[in-house]
Amino acid sequence: MAPAPDVPALVKGVLGGDRRSLARAITLVESRRADHRERAQELLVELLPHAGKARRVGISGVPGVGKSTFIDQLGVDLTAAGSRVAVLAVDPSSARSGGSILGDKTRMARLAVDRNAFIRPAPTAGTLGGVAQATRESMVVVEAAGYDVVLVETVGVGQSEVTVAEMVDSFLFLTLARTGDQLQGIKRGILEIADVIAVNKADGPAAGDARKAARELAGAIRMLRGHSEWDVPVLTCAGLTGEGLAEVWAKLVEHQDRAKASGAFDERRRAQQVRWTWQMVRDGLEHRLRAHPAVRAQTPGLEEAVLAGELTPALAARRLLETFLGDPDA
Ligand code: GDP
Repeated sequence: MAPAPDVPALVKGVLGGDRRSLARAITLVESRRADHRERAQELLVELLPHAGKARRVGISGVPGVGKSTFIDQLGVDLTAAGSRVAVLAVDPSSARSGGSILGDKTRMARLAVDRNAFIRPAPTAGTLGGVAQATRESMVVVEAAGYDVVLVETVGVGQSEVTVAEMVDSFLFLTLARTGDQLQGIKRGILEIADVIAVNKADGPAAGDARKAARELAGAIRMLRGHSEWDVPVLTCAGLTGEGLAEVWAKLVEHQDRAKASGAFDERRRAQQVRWTWQMVRDGLEHRLRAHPAVRAQTPGLEEAVLAGELTPALAARRLLETFLGDPDA
């Protein structure tokens, strides 16, 4: 692997808008190597004062819902209006497979060649925690480089959405028109974190069904969330034709502007920083715990004993903690 890069040169390159430096800086923050981690933190300390000014939007939906088509179109619309757009991705499966379909440049053909856009595939950093950390730090880098819109793409599977919601200001959930119970197949958890919902592929003959689905979904959400400061709008759109995209974006902007006016925006960002700190503490502790030689030696035997019902989970956990901390009162 290449030697750890020269941090001052990277800082200068990123702030100066040099794409190569930007890509190398992100490679550095994605690296798990201990010496790279140190360099990455030096880099981030320098870049942090220049970051934080972008609109951060999470975009999620099941594979095939039309995320990449949507982001490609929204992205070129935004750059045409004078924005600089960065697309990042959080894909827990990339940790397992070593490759990601999210943030793949071939899926966003027009945005990929847009000078005012920067697309980065999901990092392959081992765990969702690692991927999330790399993405959060990449966000600092692209913001420092002057990108004023950061779109974070993720797939509609479980924990990754919650993770992305924790790093953005607004969360857009894309779904499809379905007949029957609109809540079926849409997880409750997602409805709780979505700030804007759009029924996608509402073009051509599908438009009527999409509008009907949007109305039903809006009703269901009102029942679920009750009255709140922000009534989650349910819109229809079509990434393929561009219809409705301006309205979706306007709602996301409205969501952020209202939160800014009430103070909720800054509060959300500050709370994210604190939760993020503790998340890293937990990840770090678990990493060290699992790497601890005596813990590693003890683990298979304890797991077997728990499996066989010879030891309670509480006792097994206590033994592992005692081994790790060397403290009988652990
Ligand atoms: P992703 O997996 O969520 O990124 O979905 P893609 O953007 O790759 O889209 C999946 C398929 O749906 C592709 O064949 C697209 O051409 C199609 N598609 C995407 N957006 C639309 C849309 O707005 N309308 C229609 N009719 N098809 C769409």
